[in-house]
Amino acid sequence: MKIYAPKYYSKFKCISSKCTHSCCIGWEIDVDKATLRKYKTCKHPYAKDVFKSIAKKPTPHFKLCKNGNCPHLDENGLCKVISNLGENYLCNISKEHPRFYNQTPYGLEVGLGVSCEEACRIILNSNDFNLFEEVEKDASPIDKFDFNPIPLRNQILDIIARKDLNYQEKIQIISNEFSISIQSISDKNWKNLLNSLEYLDNSHKELFLCFTTTYLPTQDKQIYLERILAYFVYRYVSKARSLEEIKQYLGLCMFLEKLVCSLIESKNASNLEEIIPLIISVSEEIEYSEDNIDEILFDLI
Ligand code: SF4
Repeated sequence: MKIYAPKYYSKFKCISSKCTHSCCIGWEIDVDKATLRKYKTCKHPYAKDVFKSIAKKPTPHFKLCKNGNCPHLDENGLCKVISNLGENYLCNISKEHPRFYNQTPYGLEVGLGVSCEEACRIILNSNDFNLFEEVEKDASPIDKFDFNPIPLRNQILDIIARKDLNYQEKIQIISNEFSISIQSISDKNWKNLLNSLEYLDNSHKELFLCFTTTYLPTQDKQIYLERILAYFVYRYVSKARSLEEIKQYLGLCMFLEKLVCSLIESKNASNLEEIIPLIISVSEEIEYSEDNIDEILFDLI
């Protein structure tokens, strides 16, 4: 099976010690069985420390330090598992972050998730989001599909990439072609929905209640909103298994784009480095909660 990715994918490299929003802080990372076995059987003294730092229940995971850091993060922001044992000893979640995968009728697609600040920076700086390339090949067979969402998804990405249209025209064309209007749900109802979601950080809930579909971003920010919409479309519309689901996932993407837009406008974020933390908060609170995603999709049925 072939593995495809957007062209910008190959630009990604973890910036580790330079990262201001490290994924090694604040998250209890689960350790898969195969890696757990590697730590248990490895003779290196640091592997013994790693094994001791893992809580068994509910699923094996690294116990966070009191300050919320992963116990293997050193004072320079570098990973001690890598420096002592090598990258091969990272658990699957650490090895894969910030990648996500979708099965398609053509093979597997991989993307970068915007909970990672460097991935977010690359995505907001890339205008080739509708171009893909083969990044890997493996021996596994391709899954069978009754419905192929990729041509319609690519059609949406191509509309977003058009240079002869402005931001508002692109949104309008996509809404018309797919009969999606997130404005058909009132701001009050969207806010009620946002209020009912589960949050890791309650200050984000207050922040998200600034949501409105009426903000029109200034021209300098429209380019970032187009690119974040393209990212959501690549990540979610590809999951659709029917035309109805295409509309539902597209509604989710357009809602998330408007949420990002509302945060940018209400916080008056004027440059990329002010915009990135706002996008990370949306990713952490919504993309990382299947329940929250399901709640939003349910309202879009
Ligand atoms: S968030 Fe991204 S750039 Fe930062 S430490 Fe994690 S993978 Fe590296």
